[in-house]
Amino acid sequence: MRTVPGATDHVVVVGAGLSGLSAALHLAGRGRSVTVVERHPFPGGRMGQADIGGYRIDTGPTVLTMPDIIADAFAAVGASMAEHLELMPVEPAYRATFADGSALDVHSDATAMATAIEAFAGPEQAAGYLRLRDWLTELYRLEFDGFIAANFNSPLSLLTPQLARLAAIGGFRGWERMVSRFISDERVQRIFTFQALYAGVPPQRALAAYAVIAYMDTVAGVYFPRGGMRSVPEAMAAAAAVAGVGFRYDACVTALERTGSRVTAVHAGDDRIACDAVVLTTELPLTYQLLGRTPRRLVKVRPAPSAVVAHVGVPAVGEHLAHHNISFGAKWADTFGEITRDGVLMSDPSLLVTRPTAGDPSLAPSGRDLLYVLAPAPNLEVGVVDWDSVGQAYASDVVATAIARLMPGLDAEVLDVVTPADWARQGMAAGSPFALAHTFAQTGPFRPANMVRGIENAVLAGGSTVPGVGMPTALISGRLAADRVTGVPDLSRTRTIVSSGRSR
Ligand SMILES: Cc1cc2nc3c(=O)[nH]c(=O)nc-3n(C[C@H](O)[C@H](O)[C@H](O)COP(=O)(O)OP(=O)(O)OC[C@H]3O[C@@H](n4cnc5c(N)ncnc54)[C@H](O)[C@@H]3O)c2cc1C
Repeated sequence: MRTVPGATDHVVVVGAGLSGLSAALHLAGRGRSVTVVERHPFPGGRMGQADIGGYRIDTGPTVLTMPDIIADAFAAVGASMAEHLELMPVEPAYRATFADGSALDVHSDATAMATAIEAFAGPEQAAGYLRLRDWLTELYRLEFDGFIAANFNSPLSLLTPQLARLAAIGGFRGWERMVSRFISDERVQRIFTFQALYAGVPPQRALAAYAVIAYMDTVAGVYFPRGGMRSVPEAMAAAAAVAGVGFRYDACVTALERTGSRVTAVHAGDDRIACDAVVLTTELPLTYQLLGRTPRRLVKVRPAPSAVVAHVGVPAVGEHLAHHNISFGAKWADTFGEITRDGVLMSDPSLLVTRPTAGDPSLAPSGRDLLYVLAPAPNLEVGVVDWDSVGQAYASDVVATAIARLMPGLDAEVLDVVTPADWARQGMAAGSPFALAHTFAQTGPFRPANMVRGIENAVLAGGSTVPGVGMPTALISGRLAADRVTGVPDLSRTRTIVSSGRSR
């Protein structure tokens, strides 16, 4: 594996998002002196926060999966995640509601889910689910170490026996097609394919290999931290500080100083921070600009679709609304085409409605609930939407639709709205908070690499590089960046794979 040559004693990490925090913890644990430079006054990056009218709002991710990957980052400095962070299982993981008025709770427990599917769609579908669960588990087992958590030097690194096994179980067929081999009920199929949206690719076109995302939430389970999602980066930053990592907040990196092929210092305003190596977690265009490099790709990169997010206060609704609610519109099948091809708003929205106060009521004033309504939307590259004109009205429509479908008559107060234009103002390419889509041409060794030709001591991390977008992958990208700096430490790694929950 290619690594940074020469001295790597002091590493500057640009960005205190999940990838930067993960890189900092892994590097500190391997004896490096680490300084994290972050433009905002707090850690988290996209896992952001806003306090409005007594509500403690998380502005980014809501669905937390694979906590053992977070635990790995704490363990890197000898810290225990449990001492820093209280994670509670979210049960059900999701509640899915359909246009025909039916609803299905998604449980990560195999028996509970099979029972729910049997009641919803009959015993054949329940049996198919159990076989699908085995297949998803196998997919994850094959992909994790060899593909997701691996550094690639070239596409040839892919040619391993694992690749043949992955092909043999259908990893290179279509995601939707593979799921339909196990389940014929179209509504139940959606539970195991809608995650394609997270990867930025329509389920009809996505490779089955990406169904590992469905393993992560429907099999391994969904969690929520007490104090809200922001508790994750805050706890990681606290553990890193105890381990000796230095943090400079409110410090925007504007330039890198170079001597030959090495970056020798990072400039943030008037500060010059000398370094032996640098980990950049910035958005790809800024990263290349700081490095003075133009990527040599034959095909232009394809940004993922974007999203409109509305934060809403409502009178407390209690258990009537689950923690995560997916409300599928009748035109679900058209949704991807509308937002990724036509660049228009969904004609019949499918929405993710999260109620974080189900996990921690203290996130809203007493007697109130906090809702987070996410509507997939075109990015600014394909989109023809003038967000500054229509964004607020669209968000109000989407909130009204969510309320009418899930809790008719509820009085909703929109606290804040974030549109693709706002994501762009935060520096996100094409106004998408989800970086590059996970097309085949932007996956694994074909995704922008985490080392840059001609610069020997700069390593990239974050959603735009390997392995990709999402909390687990951002955390892994930080570890992969640390591996590039130090080489892979000689530790025998053990990973818990949640078994399919039944004997075969
Ligand atoms: C609305 C939304 C919903 C999501 N939902 C989910 C979900 O449910 N589940 C899931 O797993 N994932 C989800 N994600 C994706 C997940 O949040 C991201 O993939 C992950 O947090 C990205 O982490 P990162 O470190 O790559 O990037 P970032 O968090 O963007 O970190 C980069 C950091 O660099 C800093 N920075 C940038 N430029 C500079 C500079 N010049 N100088 C100094 N600092 C700089 C930024 O301020 C930021 O803190 C969601 C994201 C969003 C936005």
